[in-house]
Parts: sequence; C-alpha cells; structure tokens
Amino acid sequence: MAEEETDVYRALQQHMDQFPVRFPAREGGAEIRLLKRLFKPKEAKIATKLRFTPYPSETVDIIYPRLADTGLSKQELEETLDEMAKKGIITYLRDGETKYYGNALWVIGIYEFQVDKLTPELLAEIQNYYSAPPVQKIQSTGIPQMRTIPVGQSIRREDSVANYDDIRHLINQSKGPFVVVNCVCRQAKDLVGDPCKATDRRELCFGVGKFSQAYIDFGWGREVSKDEMLAILEQNKNEGLVLQPSNTKDIEFVCSCCGCCCGLLEGTKAAPRPVDYFTTNYYSKVDPELCTGCETCIELCQIEAATLENGIVTINLDRCIGCGICVANCPSEAIQLLKKDELHVPPETFDEMYSKIAQRRKELDKTAK
Ligand code: SF4
Ligand code: SF4
Ligand code: SF4
Repeated sequence: MAEEETDVYRALQQHMDQFPVRFPAREGGAEIRLLKRLFKPKEAKIATKLRFTPYPSETVDIIYPRLADTGLSKQELEETLDEMAKKGIITYLRDGETKYYGNALWVIGIYEFQVDKLTPELLAEIQNYYSAPPVQKIQSTGIPQMRTIPVGQSIRREDSVANYDDIRHLINQSKGPFVVVNCVCRQAKDLVGDPCKATDRRELCFGVGKFSQAYIDFGWGREVSKDEMLAILEQNKNEGLVLQPSNTKDIEFVCSCCGCCCGLLEGTKAAPRPVDYFTTNYYSKVDPELCTGCETCIELCQIEAATLENGIVTINLDRCIGCGICVANCPSEAIQLLKKDELHVPPETFDEMYSKIAQRRKELDKTAK
C-alpha cells in the first residue's frame, strides 16, 4: 500500500517535471514528502490526468473520461476538483457558470496559492525541498516569469517610458478585476519568527484579470478598485518595495518585494552581479553635485546597490536593478533612472510567455543530452 501510494506521488512529480517550469526530484525524496503534504492520494492521481496550460482550459466533462478508473462519478470528480482548487493545488477559472481546471506550476502557482494557508509543517517541507541537492536541477531558461519595473514618479517627465514599463498605464489598460492579496513570502517569514524589515503590512501583492479569479472566488484576497490599487502601490513605493509584475504586457499580477523576504532578491544579494538575475530596462545614476549624503537611498535600496563614498552616494551597476525606489525617495532629486541600451520587451500574454519558456526548455534539454 505504502509503495503504491508513493508511485502515485512519483507519477505526479514526473508529470509536473514536464511543465515549462520544472518540478525536479531531489535526493532523499523531499519532493514526494512535499507533494504528500499537499495532495491526498486521490487528488494526486487526478492531478496527473490534468494538463498545464497558462490558463486552465478543461471542464469536468473533458477531464472525466481520463479518470474513469477511479470509480468517481462526474459530480464527485467536480466536487474533488473544486476542493483541490480551493486548496490551491490546481488552477481554476470561472466564466459565468462554467468552471475550468488544470495543473498549476509549483512556482508561480501552488506556492503562491498557499497564501493564508501556510503551516509550519508545510513550510518545513518546502524548505527541505529547496535545500536538498541537487540544487542545479532547477534549471533557468533565461525567460523569467516576473520582471522589475520602475515605481511611479521615478522616470523623468521629459523621458518617454514604454507602456509595458509604466505601472499606471498597465493598470489603467486592464479591464480587471483587481485583487489585493497578502504576501505569501512574508507570511512564510512570519511563521519562522523573522518578520519583514521593510514593512509591517502584508496586503501588498495584486492579482489582475483572469489570474485574480481564484483569489476572489475562494476569498484569498480582497477585490479593489484601480484607485485603491494605485494608493496601496504608493504606500509600497514609500516603504521601498520593488515592483515586480508578471513578465507580460498584459499584467496578471504585481508583486511588491523586499530584500529580506522575496526569494529572488534575498537569494541573489550575495551574488557578485545580482543584476544578471533580473529583467529590467533601467539603472540609476547619482548627480554628485546634488547628493547631500543623507543615506535615504542606502536605507531603502533592497539589493544594496547604493554605498556612501566620501559623503556622496555611488551606485554599483552590477547590483542596481532599476527599480526607481531611490529616485522616488531622494529628497534632493539627485538620482535619475536611465534606460539601458538594449531593452527587454515582454511577451504580450501569459500564453506567449509560457510557450517561450517551454520552447527554451526543450532547446536546453536537447543541448544537455
Ligand atoms: S515575490 Fe515578493 S511580493 Fe510576491 S509574494 Fe514573494 S516577497 Fe511577496
Ligand atoms: S537619497 Fe539622494 S541625497 Fe540622499 S544619499 Fe541618496 S542620492 Fe544622495
Ligand atoms: S540603486 Fe537600488 S533603489 Fe536605486 S534603482 Fe538601483 S536597485 Fe533600485
């Protein structure tokens, strides 16, 4: 029985390892323990018969024939899929009365859907998974799921900013809905007694459009107007939080990150060139004539790119990720954001982004063989 049960979870891990963002096995079976913590055996079996698409695209009628051997009626299957969606272990979308289900990636997906549901036991399994070797098996395709854009008021009025780098435009062009959500990374830090040093607030992240549907239907977030979203983003900017939306022109989510809780910022701070891990079109430059050495930018920069030398701030371009936090908060207007020579133009949609990631992964797999 125990062996059969492990087979179900192994099948699920291998299924998830085929997604555009992999879920590789680890030495010692940390991946199986993590899956067991989240999925009941019946749920694991159902999940191996679902498909990953950027948005779930299959109704229970389409999925049911693949699960005939489970003995579940169609209604029982629908109830189980709804429970799984509510647990945040699969993706879910609703269009009127019609519901769609599909596999979720581990990140961005199942982990983020654990907002308000994290327990110390689950967190311990997640940490075991990340710390177990071989770490290098989580392969980067070079096409990130999120990117860094400048906060409002950090671009000079006389400079043009591309619509996809302009948070106000991105929000205004979207039909919504908009939902504000607690930050799951900060909730994880709270659980281990190491709370965020940048902010006491937790309602900091946003779902936009289709991505926000599950958050609204399952009460994981609070629906807000565009104006309220902009007002929260303004607070986030004042506290020095870095804007990281989805790597798409039609944004699906916006994260507001700090160097102590965000896995990417925290994990790359020790690297010699953190800038290599971020997709950004900007960098900052200080005017030494205007800098008073007040150190506001040093305190706020989440990636430790600003340092004081002879009473004046210098920006390390191997570290600067062009978030604009220093520019928007400098009392002497001594810093400006400058555009890079080569600009990153994000994919239009989630579909395009994940198909690019999947394509790149195939190429990398071929080269590795
Ligand atoms: S990526 Fe940043 S904002 Fe998003 S959940 Fe993690 S720390 Fe919070
Ligand atoms: S915030 Fe502005 S004035 Fe203060 S140290 Fe930084 S660049 Fe200089
Ligand atoms: S110096 Fe720091 S705060 Fe300023 S743009 Fe670069 S990364 Fe952001």
